[in-house]
Amino acid sequence: MDKVRTRYAPSPTGKMHVGNLRTALYEFLIAKHAGGDFLLRIEDTDQGRLVEGSVDIINRTLEAAGLVHDEGPDKDKGYGPYVQSERVKSGLYMKYAKQLVESGAAYYCFCTKERLESLTTEAGGETITHYDKHCLSLSKEEVEANLAKGMPFVIRQNIPREGTTSFTDAVYGEITINNSELDDQILIKSDGFPTYNFANVIDDHLMEITHVVRGNEYISSTPKYTRLYQAFGWKEPVYVHLPLITNEDHQKLSKRCGHASFEDLTDQGFVPEAIVNYMALLGWSGPENREIFSLDELIELFDYTKINKSPSVFDIVKLRWMNGEYLKMMDNERYYSLALPYVEQAVKKDYDKKKIADLVKTRIETLCDIPEKIDFFNELPEYDPEMYTHKKMKTNSENSLESLKDLLPRLEALDTYNNDTLSALVSGYVEEKGIKNGIALWPLRTAVSGKQMTPGGAYEIMEILGKDESLERIRKGIALLEAKVVS
Ligand code: GLU
Repeated sequence: MDKVRTRYAPSPTGKMHVGNLRTALYEFLIAKHAGGDFLLRIEDTDQGRLVEGSVDIINRTLEAAGLVHDEGPDKDKGYGPYVQSERVKSGLYMKYAKQLVESGAAYYCFCTKERLESLTTEAGGETITHYDKHCLSLSKEEVEANLAKGMPFVIRQNIPREGTTSFTDAVYGEITINNSELDDQILIKSDGFPTYNFANVIDDHLMEITHVVRGNEYISSTPKYTRLYQAFGWKEPVYVHLPLITNEDHQKLSKRCGHASFEDLTDQGFVPEAIVNYMALLGWSGPENREIFSLDELIELFDYTKINKSPSVFDIVKLRWMNGEYLKMMDNERYYSLALPYVEQAVKKDYDKKKIADLVKTRIETLCDIPEKIDFFNELPEYDPEMYTHKKMKTNSENSLESLKDLLPRLEALDTYNNDTLSALVSGYVEEKGIKNGIALWPLRTAVSGKQMTPGGAYEIMEILGKDESLERIRKGIALLEAKVVS
């Protein structure tokens, strides 16, 4: 059996959209599951669509996602170059196109733009050109004379109008298309560059690609590729066309509508391993409805024959949940490296930033949730003294004020602020007074945070704030309550 070889073949036209990431991931998983090779090939034959910096984005994204390629522009293992524009220079596409011309599977076309425009028809709001094979009738001598004159030309695929073409897709099964629907597509453009439709076949063959994974928008072109493979007498790869990814409204995700790229998602505080895990589930499901898989587990379990053909909904709520799970189980070193920049952005004062990061680790879904949860450390927010009144805790302004006033001198006398010392102090106080914990703790936490909800309790917050700041905040709380109780 052939060694499994897959390729991710992006066109460098901008950010790496989540659909592309899923394609790359599935290619990677198919190759690695079978102990094969995963290649990166840059398809830049459409020079008008190139966006500078895209190749860097592709490399950065694959690396961050852990989808390490075995071969690619930076790792030539004898199948290179891996950038199509560099392959053009060697004349290889032209050589294969001429081979097809020789065998009658392709032909030179000298039609002018004006003539081609006269062939266009409108269908369903789209302009369709079905080339009428005009130049197919040119004799060999006429073609040679035109070429000798330097007339601009393209090379077209010669597809019979009658009959059908079939291919098998691993996801969609056997697909048959009437040849009358297939246009004599251009293989070599007038600038000498191959079209994507031609180059992908040549390159996949020369690079010995065994499985081609791409979005299902390519299904309608695949019969033309099948006919090219047949014309060359080459073996076709296994086709794995992936279902559409839609938004919650079941509409196609579109780049234009600001739909997320991998880097947009990491900017929004999602971590690469959660994004990758989530993308794996957009079209495939693991055993027993399990949802959390490491990349190694995905390699072991992924089975492309189980890809679902119905569209998958990109559900940001689920991705948020999954991201939260990844943050919870992340080892501290990596967690700090990701979380500390967010902590530092929100808290400028010189507190123990790692302790603050620890407080939120199990309480966030994305890293971007961090600042809003911890900004009270930086500065005590203005808050409504009504917050001291809590039905379940049985607190009100009066008993809150009493607790804070009682606790203040004891806290002033305490030197070390940590969980043990503070809990001993507060326990002693509530026992002495014969009151419930909440009557001391609720006002204390409110005073030191100014918030109704905080990551961590009063002791953890006070340990981070330290003695001076904690006391200052408690004094402020007392003043606020006194003003309220008096009025
Ligand atoms: N360059 C094509 C794209 O970016 C790749 C399609 C394929 O994988 O064959 O859509």
